[in-house]
Amino acid sequence: MIDVRDLVYEYPTVRALKGISLHVEPQTITALVGPNGAGKTTLLRCLAALEDPFSGSVIVGGFDTRSDPRAIHALLGYLPDFYGLYDGLSVRRVLTYTARSRGIAPALTAAAVEKAVLRVGLTDRIDVKAGDLSRGLRQRLAIGQAIVHEPKVLLLDEPAAGLDPQARRDLSVLMVALKDAGMTLVVSSHILAELEDYCSEMIIIEDGMIVGGKPIKVKDVARPRYILEIATARSDLRDFLAARAGIDVIEADEYHALITHSRSAASRARLIRDLLAAGFEVSGFGESTRALEDAYFSQVGQGR
Ligand code: ATP
Repeated sequence: MIDVRDLVYEYPTVRALKGISLHVEPQTITALVGPNGAGKTTLLRCLAALEDPFSGSVIVGGFDTRSDPRAIHALLGYLPDFYGLYDGLSVRRVLTYTARSRGIAPALTAAAVEKAVLRVGLTDRIDVKAGDLSRGLRQRLAIGQAIVHEPKVLLLDEPAAGLDPQARRDLSVLMVALKDAGMTLVVSSHILAELEDYCSEMIIIEDGMIVGGKPIKVKDVARPRYILEIATARSDLRDFLAARAGIDVIEADEYHALITHSRSAASRARLIRDLLAAGFEVSGFGESTRALEDAYFSQVGQGR
């Protein structure tokens, strides 16, 4: 769905992207992470056909950003890192305006607006003016603007900024639902611990380049990683886990194991019961949220 080859982008005094190549498959969610000033926003703006590359090429949905920017704008939704809203208009009117300007027919506009409002959780505020919304609610409205026309490709620059924990979780669920509905998402974020909830690939950008040259595979969303700890050493921990159906052992020693396992609470409960029955003194079992952060910090800033 997205193909970037040797992309170089320069501001008048800074070379912000120094030869980026990447490929994004349709119906996936790719996270873009990296330190401040790494080039994430610049890359998203190039993908959105808002900037022309200095050299290299950017193809989105089969169109080249240089020769067909309008075709790309039509198939794309984009949430910038900074944006303005029409503060004097209600949520309904802001989204109606966006829907109409995005080419949705008048007869279909009300339904499109209501769907977007439901998706971003603003139904009970549909008649509130944008200027009277809190920061997080404005963020939700801006996300609503980006999806009201059901784009094929959705680019979100820091969508979780300013959202409370519940709204961030809702956003993760929404992004997965949009992917399942057929969209391809690229999302920049600084909140590494939550990436595993929604994305399948992580691209680390540092100083205008992709660290390691390619995306890092994030785990299967339906099968999180869990850490198991036992209080007394057992050399057969790995073998016991590996013999069970539905478990992949990523690493294990006599006290710990990092495994992938289904999200199902009932099957996790079954695993713990069977471990106890087999004499393993289970002292800890929980979802591992640090794996991505560890991968990030092991790659970023090594040159400093
Ligand atoms: P952040 O996480 O802080 O949002 P980012 O990864 O999105 O950072 P960019 O905003 O893409 O980074 O900036 C990449 C580089 O380009 C930085 O060195 C930045 O200072 C520079 N830059 C960004 N916008 C401009 C501009 N309009 N003019 C000149 N330089 C710019």
